Amino acid sequence: MKAVIMAGGLGTRMGATGIPKPMLPVAGKPVLERQIECLVRFGITDITIVTHHLGEKIARHFGDGSRFGARVSYFKERTPLGTAGALFKMKHDGDFLLINGDIVFDIDIDFFISCHNRRRGLATILTHPSTHPFDSALVKTDKDGRVTEWLPKTRPPSDYQNLANTGIHIISPELVESADIRGAANLDKDLLIPAVKTGRVFSCRTFEYVRDMGTPERLAQVTRDVISRLPEKKRASNKRTAVFLDRDGTINAYKGYICSPDQIELIEGAARAVKIINRLGYLAVAVTNQPVVARGMCGFDELDAIHKRLETLLGGHGAYLDGIYFCPHHPDGGYEGEVAALKCDCLCRKPKPGMILDAARDLNISLADSYMVGDSPSDILCGRAAGCKTAFLQCGSKSDPPEGAPVFRDLISFAESLKSHGGSI
Ligand SMILES: [Zn+2]
Repeated sequence: MKAVIMAGGLGTRMGATGIPKPMLPVAGKPVLERQIECLVRFGITDITIVTHHLGEKIARHFGDGSRFGARVSYFKERTPLGTAGALFKMKHDGDFLLINGDIVFDIDIDFFISCHNRRRGLATILTHPSTHPFDSALVKTDKDGRVTEWLPKTRPPSDYQNLANTGIHIISPELVESADIRGAANLDKDLLIPAVKTGRVFSCRTFEYVRDMGTPERLAQVTRDVISRLPEKKRASNKRTAVFLDRDGTINAYKGYICSPDQIELIEGAARAVKIINRLGYLAVAVTNQPVVARGMCGFDELDAIHKRLETLLGGHGAYLDGIYFCPHHPDGGYEGEVAALKCDCLCRKPKPGMILDAARDLNISLADSYMVGDSPSDILCGRAAGCKTAFLQCGSKSDPPEGAPVFRDLISFAESLKSHGGSI
């Protein structure tokens, strides 16, 4: 597969004049060079860089690409053609990778390509939770990963699933041919959004490292991440670490049975704690018993709405969950309105470790290096049964900690302790 990198942006807004944005160094190496290194690692060596102003600085650095193990060609825009205009002036002999020039990533490109090939879409977008979802375009997907709706950057406030475009796509020539465009074009507005209604635009969710460096603050954060080797740590091929989090009483305030989004209220410091967990490179995975579903007090749709509210509240603070696993079951029957099919002695209800074991399999997690954190003894027993380290939170807990469990006041005190101990306690 070939790759096209959109590298027309300027670094001016970043306080760097006379340098194209993709040439800004991150820990001493230009962003674009980091991108090409990742592509070459997966055998993507045929690379076209779309340039505009100061494109010669890019061409001077990469030349024909041989120094980097690639064959690099250039498409120089005489007038700016936006995020997609150049695509209409190139020949495409097959599906191709299209990459924004201002992102730093370390991803399994083979996995992304297989994700695209399996569904043969007009386009596949690599997606992930954004650290700034409130001002990012987000997508809604169905259970097969088909994009069903595109929420623009500016939109009326509403709850969302935090799923944003990473800026890495696979595009089919058919998609390019479907639009009649001669001049400048916007990839989202002119190509991807109109194609959503065909049902052939797909999302491929990644847990690996992809971050944009489009503002000075984000560039500084990406630089810190690269220096601390976070991108490598998050590679799918490496075992990852996770902090498994109980939900009620740990992230959001305990209010008995929660059956509606309006009952979700973050505990003081919880969002900051999740953000610390995100930045330390741990996956943040909620594991929650929700017997309200078996009791018939809350349907799966309501539970989904509750979790969207949770994601939205966390997203407002730049924090995100990598996964939410829930147990809808309850072992005891005999309640009015209960859902008989969910009344069973399942393997997922904490203190059984089923949810953690599922997440570990889905996300390639090393359990011995991960934590289970919660305010109930069953959280600690569940974490132990899964082979994780544990942390018992006193906040709001009505029970004593199980013997030998490390105790913290609340989630933020756990996260700060994790951070001050260099990521492991
Ligand atoms: Zn269950």
